[in-house]
Amino acid sequence: MNRRLTICACIAALVLVLSSSALAVSVQDIVDDVSQATYTHYLDDLLYTHLGHDRGFGAEHDLARTNIYNEFDGYGLDTSLHGFTYSSNTYYNVVGVHTGTVRPDDIYVVGAHYDSVNNPGADDNASGTAGVMEAARVLSQYDFEATMVFIAFDREEQGLVGSDAYAQDHSGDNILGMISMDMIAYNAGQNKATIYGRTSSDPLKQDLADAIAAYGNGLTSVIAGTFDASDHAPFEWQGFQASLLIEDWGNPYYHQANDSVDTPNYIDYGFATNMVRSTVGYLATATVVIPEPGGIMIVGFGILILIRRRRA
Ligand SMILES: [Zn+2]
Repeated sequence: MNRRLTICACIAALVLVLSSSALAVSVQDIVDDVSQATYTHYLDDLLYTHLGHDRGFGAEHDLARTNIYNEFDGYGLDTSLHGFTYSSNTYYNVVGVHTGTVRPDDIYVVGAHYDSVNNPGADDNASGTAGVMEAARVLSQYDFEATMVFIAFDREEQGLVGSDAYAQDHSGDNILGMISMDMIAYNAGQNKATIYGRTSSDPLKQDLADAIAAYGNGLTSVIAGTFDASDHAPFEWQGFQASLLIEDWGNPYYHQANDSVDTPNYIDYGFATNMVRSTVGYLATATVVIPEPGGIMIVGFGILILIRRRRA
């Protein structure tokens, strides 16, 4: 083999190997995929958040559920409906699973309830549901060591019925962290989020606070204690670490007919997007991203060139 050819091949291989390192994915890269435009599309166009809409027991409830299902399915998640009984009727949580490639039994859950109190429920809680959808869209594009489960819960407003059914049915799972996003789009003015949960959830709460500081675009947070009024609570009742990520107190339209995207100067899409960035940052950190397969292929290609040159 020509000596100069060997050197050329070595250099070419080295360049390929070095360029492959650029394909390693950082949490920041993933967080930067979160899009305010896409979040806005989900909240305004897919979740029936306009004046007169009713995701309580109205027609828009099932229509929203179908849209959530189709989005999860479209991202390539293992999508299903988890049925449960409330007041003699069957209702459904929408579940999308992104299975981990190294530790599939280690599970992280992010959820939000899509039902409302017979109103458009733009902030409570289409805002969190759109957040789960955007987190699912972004995170489904990457591979992670551990499994992520995205859930849109039903019948939260009747007493956490859907999330309690899910947590009970999955009490044997190895759920290492659960976040409920519930009311994340009304900015009371302080650009502040609150993280609720029991002391047994303190490590998770701190990790989420760290993610807000690192990826929240200026969002700040305060850590608070037990608050059993959202879908994280049933997971804590089963012994899992779980927390509620929520806006600061003060929403004047809470449980009102004008909790709608049509109400002027109400929904803060940028603030909500920063909430979603924080949750995505937390999940990507906890589940550990796998380098892009493209990087491995380029390394392999470089080695192949080397071997072929050696044989020449
Ligand atoms: Zn709510």
